Amino acid sequence: MAFAQKLSLLTCLHFLILVSAYGQKAKDFTFPNGAKAAICLTYDDGLPSHVQTVGPALNKYGLKGTFFITVNSASLQDDMDKWRALATAGHELANHSVYHPCRKSLPGMDWVRDYYNLDGYTVEQVLAELKVANGYLQALDGKRARTYAYPCAHLFAGGVSFKDSIVQVATAARGVHDLLVPIKEIDLNNVASYAPNGVSGQELIAYVQRVIEQQTLGTFCFHGVGAEYLSVSKEAHEELLQWLAGHRKEVWVATFEEATGYVKANRN
Ligand SMILES: [Zn+2]
Repeated sequence: MAFAQKLSLLTCLHFLILVSAYGQKAKDFTFPNGAKAAICLTYDDGLPSHVQTVGPALNKYGLKGTFFITVNSASLQDDMDKWRALATAGHELANHSVYHPCRKSLPGMDWVRDYYNLDGYTVEQVLAELKVANGYLQALDGKRARTYAYPCAHLFAGGVSFKDSIVQVATAARGVHDLLVPIKEIDLNNVASYAPNGVSGQELIAYVQRVIEQQTLGTFCFHGVGAEYLSVSKEAHEELLQWLAGHRKEVWVATFEEATGYVKANRN
């Protein structure tokens, strides 16, 4: 083969390799073990049902959850050993502030106490509070990196957004807007989540199926399970866990820290 032909063949091969590498990159994003989608099971406010019901249920199915704890929660003070045991079992203890400040000026927010009114906070005050919560959680599980969930999904303190400042205290943050977006468009400082209230196990599973169809990251934002408020029944929650445990090839169930860390590291 003439040198020119060899060169042309090599160039052609090189081109094909480049095309196939590009094709692989442009292909759908995949999660660990080839799963099509990822699900985070997150639980807000440090409620008693989380240690009494959720932890044992997750452990039964070998699934890991994320607990966004308001560190002034009575349950955390009363049952600290049980919360620490969740961390030891591999679940994520995450930041949901100290006092759960929300914006009292918004409709339906009359219940917010004046002294925990986010409209009266500054951004610096929010960050200072979140650092205290991080320190408290570090005393429980020894970890420095922490994710965060905005209380009431409110991102403005005294009228100023603190979304861009959240990177100072958290590796990723969760909001609530029941919206599935493509992996490349996920805002890791305000990740969408679905907050179910009084729905059946089948409805919870239907959300996961939408996440799988769209091959993206879906996040549940639970509150009470079989108790407290904004709750789903113990049975509905267990039906979801059982389904997830039976569909591990299609959907990767991970803590919020793991899932957002994976997206951050692999989507580009
Ligand atoms: Zn909350």
